Amino acid sequence: MAKYTGADCKICRREGCKLFLKGERCLTKKCAFERRPNVPGVHGAARKKITEYGLQLREKQKVKRAYGLQEKQFRSYYEKANTMRGKVGENMLSLLERRLDNVVYRMGIGASRAESRQIVNHGHITVNGKTVNIPSYIIKVDDVVSIKENKRELQMFKDLKDVKVVMPKWLEFDSSKLTGKINALPTREDIDMNIQEHLIIELYSK
Ligand code: SF4
Repeated sequence: MAKYTGADCKICRREGCKLFLKGERCLTKKCAFERRPNVPGVHGAARKKITEYGLQLREKQKVKRAYGLQEKQFRSYYEKANTMRGKVGENMLSLLERRLDNVVYRMGIGASRAESRQIVNHGHITVNGKTVNIPSYIIKVDDVVSIKENKRELQMFKDLKDVKVVMPKWLEFDSSKLTGKINALPTREDIDMNIQEHLIIELYSK
């Protein structure tokens, strides 16, 4: 499936919730979902009966878009989760949370997942002292995630001292040292987005 290149805010309106795709703007009154929460398009405001398949599809699209993934990549997390012990849906969400771009975002390095991904892509991040520029890299417990030494003087990283972040308990980040650590693997309770993962599993297991 081709990469979506339209307006990010339309995605939130389509999926019926805030996906926080645009950084600081998402927290202001300029948020398009706050102003117009209906589905975009001329028939957007009309109520439509949604089928079971439609519900499953929308849930999958919502999570896939929140993490900024393409279909093939997103499905690969389901397939990997299916080979792991425990509940497939929870395993899948845990894997998504453990992506390096998401970890960087959760630590407050980058205002959105897209920005955090770019920071990783540009080689600004190290894991256990080695540069990792692969956004899909999966972190492990006790990994140390830092801003690369020779990039710390960039203004965007100096500004992190003033950024207020609600840090999930499985992570820590010291904005004066620009270093963070993975204290535990994320559990289902750590994922704050309203997700009905069973719908995604039902869709993929057909
Ligand atoms: Fe979504 Fe952010 Fe746009 Fe609001 S501002 S609609 S949360 S991308």
